[in-house]
Amino acid sequence: MSAVRTTCPYCGVGCGVLAAADGTIAGDPAHPANHGRLCSKGAALGATLSGEGRLLQPQIAGAPARWEAALDTIADAFARTIAAHGPDAVALYVSGQFLTEDYYVANKLMKGFVGSANIDTNSRLCMASSVAGHVRAFGADIVPGIYEDWEEADLVVLVGSNAAWCHPVLFQRLVAARARRGTRVIVIDPRRTASCEGADLHLALRAGSDVALFAGLLVHLADRGAVAADWIAAHTDGFAAALATARQTAGTLAAIAAITELPEAEIAAFYDAFIATERVMTVYSQGVNQSSSGTDKVNAIINCHLATGRIGLPGSGPFSVTGQPNAMGGREVGGLANQLAAHMRFDDAAALDRVRRFWQAPRLATRPGLKAVDLFDAVLDGRVKALWIMATNPAASMPDAPRIRAALEACPFVALSDCSTWSDTARYADVLLPAAAWGEKDGTVTNSERRISRQRAFRPAPGEARPDWWALSEVARRLGWAAAFPYRCAADILREHAALSTFENDGSRLFDIGALATLSDDAYDALAPVQWPLPKGQQAGGRLFGDGGFATPDRRARFVATAWQPPSSLPDDAYPLVLNTGRVRDQWHTMTRTGTVPLLMTHADGPVLYLHPADAARCDIGADDLVALTSRFGETILPARMTPEQRPGEVFAAIHWNDWFASSGPIARIVGGAADPLSGQPELKATPVRLRAIRARWRGLLLRRSAGTLSGDVYWARVPVEGGVAFELAGWTTLPAGAVLEDWATALLGAPDGAERLDYADPARGWYRWASIRDGRLDGCLFLSPAGNLPERRTLAALLARPLGDDERLALLAGWPAGAPVDQGAIVCACFAVGLRTLHRAIREDGLSSVDAIGAALKAGTNCGSCIPELKQILRAAAAPAA
Ligand code: SF4
Repeated sequence: MSAVRTTCPYCGVGCGVLAAADGTIAGDPAHPANHGRLCSKGAALGATLSGEGRLLQPQIAGAPARWEAALDTIADAFARTIAAHGPDAVALYVSGQFLTEDYYVANKLMKGFVGSANIDTNSRLCMASSVAGHVRAFGADIVPGIYEDWEEADLVVLVGSNAAWCHPVLFQRLVAARARRGTRVIVIDPRRTASCEGADLHLALRAGSDVALFAGLLVHLADRGAVAADWIAAHTDGFAAALATARQTAGTLAAIAAITELPEAEIAAFYDAFIATERVMTVYSQGVNQSSSGTDKVNAIINCHLATGRIGLPGSGPFSVTGQPNAMGGREVGGLANQLAAHMRFDDAAALDRVRRFWQAPRLATRPGLKAVDLFDAVLDGRVKALWIMATNPAASMPDAPRIRAALEACPFVALSDCSTWSDTARYADVLLPAAAWGEKDGTVTNSERRISRQRAFRPAPGEARPDWWALSEVARRLGWAAAFPYRCAADILREHAALSTFENDGSRLFDIGALATLSDDAYDALAPVQWPLPKGQQAGGRLFGDGGFATPDRRARFVATAWQPPSSLPDDAYPLVLNTGRVRDQWHTMTRTGTVPLLMTHADGPVLYLHPADAARCDIGADDLVALTSRFGETILPARMTPEQRPGEVFAAIHWNDWFASSGPIARIVGGAADPLSGQPELKATPVRLRAIRARWRGLLLRRSAGTLSGDVYWARVPVEGGVAFELAGWTTLPAGAVLEDWATALLGAPDGAERLDYADPARGWYRWASIRDGRLDGCLFLSPAGNLPERRTLAALLARPLGDDERLALLAGWPAGAPVDQGAIVCACFAVGLRTLHRAIREDGLSSVDAIGAALKAGTNCGSCIPELKQILRAAAAPAA
């Protein structure tokens, strides 16, 4: 079967993928982002094509409907709302999962024709602070560097970036370069993450103190004569003021140590390394961006690179890595509420006039719209009355999720375009539209190094799913603007987007992709990855700003005076700990795609709260306990996981699990999210919380063929397994007895009529087991035990897939399938399904002592490399003397 060249839909690395309709997936050796490599998520893309959970048909008020009727309903709701309340009473909330073509049409519709800039995106939660910081420093939202810089640097500083898990292929490029040239790596992160493995230095600073650390670096650069005075004079403004401000809060090592809670010696070691190294990259991500002072953090970092002239040169510069696959494409289009279009701004009258003429848009919005947090506030208080949400799940991902849900509940009209039925937002939608997904639609995405790549369809869309740009154009047509939205295909849209980027562009707008404005359809189909700037007839791509030439009117960069401010919300007696949130290695966003793949759930199979053992002891939390995690915004219950890699005083939970996958629901339900005043990006990494131990009275394991969710006073987490689903259970109330327990078990099993039922009960010990068998096959089973001595999930799940033997029927109720393979433990290497227990056994019994030896014996770590940091951790732990 022939493979199609496309691009991974997950993170901002933007890896090239060879994909075939039968689900065969491989890395594209010709793609410059990954040269054939894929991480564990990318390698498992084929397993996400099953169609499970897909939304296949439009719905109106929960009933199946035809596309025509659904589009009419949206257009009618928007038209009536605009007529009665004005254009600012309607809004779009879109997504970094959009293709650039979807983004362009959405932005043009809202800003050009509805006449409001109320279009914002979940990229507001991802990199809005980097955008604002870039604009302040460079005059435009531009990442100066390219991926080769990761390989040509002598020092890479990772700030608030667990690249080993969140941008794995790029991290592996760094690891390979390190092996070749001895690149030093310094990680600045409150947690000891997988990215710290093998790093030369880890600064576990206090959450939110980054500005002080980098302001202190600026002071030290100046005081030790390490600034590039000539370069500063030639290419920048504002150095003296920035330095004076930095001195106010970060003038001495003692002052910086007091704010960051780092030892002075560690701070000094970082400063020494930065000062001594010409080729230094500072890579930053959500730990910097998702902060109430995110923009200042970005500028504090950029200031240090401007001060040394280390920018836009091989192996040198600040480098923002984006979380989402097409956050950069959205930024290029102008898909944020405070942007106009194609890197043009609302505060530029000439730009407004230019865009108005280009689009022939007499109602062009002339001022910024509402950023995400403000947008949902406006929905809640009734200013916005009609909302179309596309390719995102704000009920699970926006901070203070209960408030977001209340807003959606109160909104007179909500439409949702999505490819999945597993969206927590769907229950609030008056109209649901089935969107075409990855592999089913055509368009482009831009990765973190400004490289535009094609996403190509390689299989038909199921049911009635259609591309988002098409749905937007159809609504525009119904609103009376057919002539402005005449698109036949994605290529039409990219050509127009490229033409706008180059329209009356005298070179002052660096985002210029004019060379794509005249692509034929065939050339669009064949388009190879290209990097911008891409003006017609000129040299394309490459590093920017090495010799100045910034995007400000005078072509000079701006230092920004940044003074450290304490986080907007600090722990206190009532909420004494700080909750940080982030990702796990093998899951993506709210799991609507990755949550269906058994292999991707073997590395981390449920939500947990990571906390330091000292905090656990202080809160009387034991290893088998659940934890009630409470903030001013709500409460959730999670299993506890003690780890010394967590900073004392700070706890961590993953963002992925939502109402469809765990009783805890999205962690966003307790996250505060005070926004950065400039970027509007919410603080997702520093919510004050308190903990309370909840003793589990019993634990359980439920296996059945149907997915669904559970209810009641019970903790559950849903895990896909081959042939069905498993639910890990824990309860804090006493199990009911007799018929009530039987009825409860029957409801959980969902046993079909005519199924044979096996059961076993030992009430004195609290052991209960049920199995439901149909046509000689296991249909479901439920095990309950007070001590948690339950059968192993994966071995038991294997019985769903084959007819049961007599010995297996008996063994089922004994709690362990006959002849079951040895439990491997949590899967570390997803590519070759190598588990923790297998690794421990091989290290112990076969004497494996290196990653290479593990790879030779077990293959672990030899494919995508995502697990190599964990393999090193396991080897290090095994080699450590017993305490
Ligand atoms: Fe996809 Fe992984 Fe590459 Fe990111 S690093 S684009 S998730 S394959």
